[in-house]
Amino acid sequence: MDLLLPSPPTPLQELHDQLFEKAAVRLFVKRDDLIHPEVSGNKWRKLKYVLQDVLACKKDTVLTFGGAYSNHLYALAAAGKELGLKTIGVVRGEKPAQESATLQFCRQKGMRLHFVSREEYRLRDSAEYLSALESRFGSPYIIPEGGTTTLALPGVAELVAEVEVQLPTSPVYYGVAAGTGGTTAGLLSAGANVVAFSALKGGDFLKADIMDLTRETAKTGTLDLQTGYHFGGYAKYNAELLDFIVDFKTRFGIQLEQLYTGKMFYGLFDMIGKGHFPEGSTIVAVHTGGLQGLLRN
Ligand SMILES: *Cc1c(COP(=O)(O)O)cnc(C)c1O
Repeated sequence: MDLLLPSPPTPLQELHDQLFEKAAVRLFVKRDDLIHPEVSGNKWRKLKYVLQDVLACKKDTVLTFGGAYSNHLYALAAAGKELGLKTIGVVRGEKPAQESATLQFCRQKGMRLHFVSREEYRLRDSAEYLSALESRFGSPYIIPEGGTTTLALPGVAELVAEVEVQLPTSPVYYGVAAGTGGTTAGLLSAGANVVAFSALKGGDFLKADIMDLTRETAKTGTLDLQTGYHFGGYAKYNAELLDFIVDFKTRFGIQLEQLYTGKMFYGLFDMIGKGHFPEGSTIVAVHTGGLQGLLRN
């Protein structure tokens, strides 16, 4: 049952370029950016079974965590509104004089925003802190940052099932941008071989988090975690990345953004050019959406 409509499958689009011809690989884009106008990309996939659980638990309020530009807060605010759930966003950092367009959108969707200091935000996974939030906000259903829980995995795994129907060839490598690693874990749980591109500096910690998430899944594909394409860190970018995004749009007609998908495609193209993938490989790059964050407010 899909609570959030429209529902997938999303298109699988092949890109043509000399770069791929020379390397003798095929590159496809899984267009999850088209999955829903507001609950975009991987957030739709990750929230699918989490939201079913919220309803099964008969909770009317959902609380979650994110920064001022969080695609997850944005998606959850929209999904909550659509499903008639109250939403509370615990936002990292003191309330700014001018709220970001992301937070303004969240408010428009009825999300209640609760700003906390960066120190307090660090407690977001501690049991003691969560039970304090529960008492304070009347026992909401609590979703971790990024919507990343083991319940997020089966929704992402469905993406792989769709691709297996759309493109019945192998071997396939999946390319995906990683923030918390939840989407990567979901792809792995479907048995996919994944090249994950950390959007953060020092992304090596993701490996342990992803292993933790996939510990109890029946299948696990192989993980190639790339930590060198972060462009200085989370939300950092330079002219070269912005040029790449403009050029990508011109050549392929697909919009990327500078936080996640721009870095992922930049890294993927670089690796293809360097002959990282065996000849004859098929690569499926997941467009995880997030276009609300394009050239930040
Ligand atoms: C949130 C987000 C990611 C990161 O997903 P994780 O599951 O946290 O790794 C990647 N791309 C986009 C566009 C996102 O909004």
